[in-house]
Amino acid sequence: MDFAKERERMVQRQLVPRGIRDERVLAAMGAVPRHRFVPAGQQRFAYDDCPLPIGPEQTISQPYIVALMSECARLDSGDRALEIGTGSGYQAAVLAAMGVEVWSVEIAAELSRQAAANLREAGCAGGVHLRVGDGWTGWPEAAPFQAVLVTAAPLDVPHPLLEQLADGGRLVAPVGLSVQDLVLVRREGDDYHRESLIPVRFVPMRGRAESPSPDD
Ligand code: SAH
Repeated sequence: MDFAKERERMVQRQLVPRGIRDERVLAAMGAVPRHRFVPAGQQRFAYDDCPLPIGPEQTISQPYIVALMSECARLDSGDRALEIGTGSGYQAAVLAAMGVEVWSVEIAAELSRQAAANLREAGCAGGVHLRVGDGWTGWPEAAPFQAVLVTAAPLDVPHPLLEQLADGGRLVAPVGLSVQDLVLVRREGDDYHRESLIPVRFVPMRGRAESPSPDD
């Protein structure tokens, strides 16, 4: 299979017609070898217009959703981003290809290990920091972040993640049960402006997000 050609087709048929305009997002997704982030048996589907399984109850998001979240984050080269749910490492690789420094937290140790290998083998590991843990608490030592991308769905946005946003920063997260709202939160000082973008379907956020009152 000609993966470079598949990748270009993905950009031109799935991202551009749906309104992704940020040239750096389009360039990053045109460059990052997505097929290296999916299990060997799934490689031929890597550039299809759908999410793919990467493990039990875990998926790598549909390319359009990765592009939308990357674009909504409005990141500049040199910015810092926090990702919750490393998964395959693909979203982190796309941000890194945009010149962003990425801190990514994954609750499943095995997936984090696999993501580290994927990033290395794809030549995308530069500027990506991985940690195993519950992303509910973010990565306070590396804060503040110009953007936070949450790629597993909590019932509501964990407040530590809002606190770790830089002034003027943006958080994108799927919020809710089964079918979620993709919400964008913009921080201005102590004000947080929230809007819903589109309905999405991500795996549920595990750990503290599952307890009835995660603040306890
Ligand atoms: N961004 C990933 C896809 C994420 S799938 C990619 O580009 O491939 C969602 C991931 O979130 C899964 O790997 C799941 O294990 C992880 N996850 C679920 N709950 C989490 C939590 N509380 N903290 C960190 N990661 C979590």
